[in-house]
Amino acid sequence: MDTEILRSLMNCSLTEEEAKPVLLEENDLIDGVVECEASAFVKVHALNLGVAGPIIHVFFPSIEGKRWVMESGPWCFDNHLLIIKNWVRGEDPMDISFDECKFSFQVRGLKEEFYTKEVANNLSSSFMACEIMELCKDKAGKNFFRVKATVNVQQPIRRFVNFQVGTTHGAGYLTYGRLPYLCFHCGLMGHLIRQCPKLPEGASPQKHVVYGLWIKAPAEKSKVEFRLITDGLNHDKPS
Ligand SMILES: [Zn+2]
Repeated sequence: MDTEILRSLMNCSLTEEEAKPVLLEENDLIDGVVECEASAFVKVHALNLGVAGPIIHVFFPSIEGKRWVMESGPWCFDNHLLIIKNWVRGEDPMDISFDECKFSFQVRGLKEEFYTKEVANNLSSSFMACEIMELCKDKAGKNFFRVKATVNVQQPIRRFVNFQVGTTHGAGYLTYGRLPYLCFHCGLMGHLIRQCPKLPEGASPQKHVVYGLWIKAPAEKSKVEFRLITDGLNHDKPS
């Protein structure tokens, strides 16, 4: 709102009084910059709010507190995803893309011989900005990969991974912790299947389901067998 008012004013011709800048020193901003460094912009990702939904500027008690919140996501409010973006001096929140969000998810269902460090390493490159890739064992003794990577929320949430070794194939499915409302038809977060704009008119939602409750990872403790931290090595978006 403020940004829109300012942008429209800056496009007008200003009077001499309006155009004359008030001169400041860098030091005059120190207190404000320190406070803002512990802040972030938050947007609720929901179909009914659309892309023009409000952006909230949230201030944390410390930079460490903000980092913890940003690293421990994803966060939901009222079953809707909260997309949190760091405050950067000089950056206009209207110019920030809220299309990407970090998620923790699991890759399950692989044949046992696929749970190796080499497979983990190759698999990590198929995710966007993969930060953590680790092999875990759940309470039932089943192996799975736990992944922390960036997800584009404007695209259907990924369900599947596919491997090829020579002439043989392998596959696994993805399951997510702390999922917000997810449409089981189009795979987008932010709405439920009965609100889906892509559902044909008059169609019965049950006949158009391509996701299932398996997409939600059970919340349980698991044992970490090994961890590959790929942060800094793989920040390219997969094709
Ligand atoms: Zn949908």
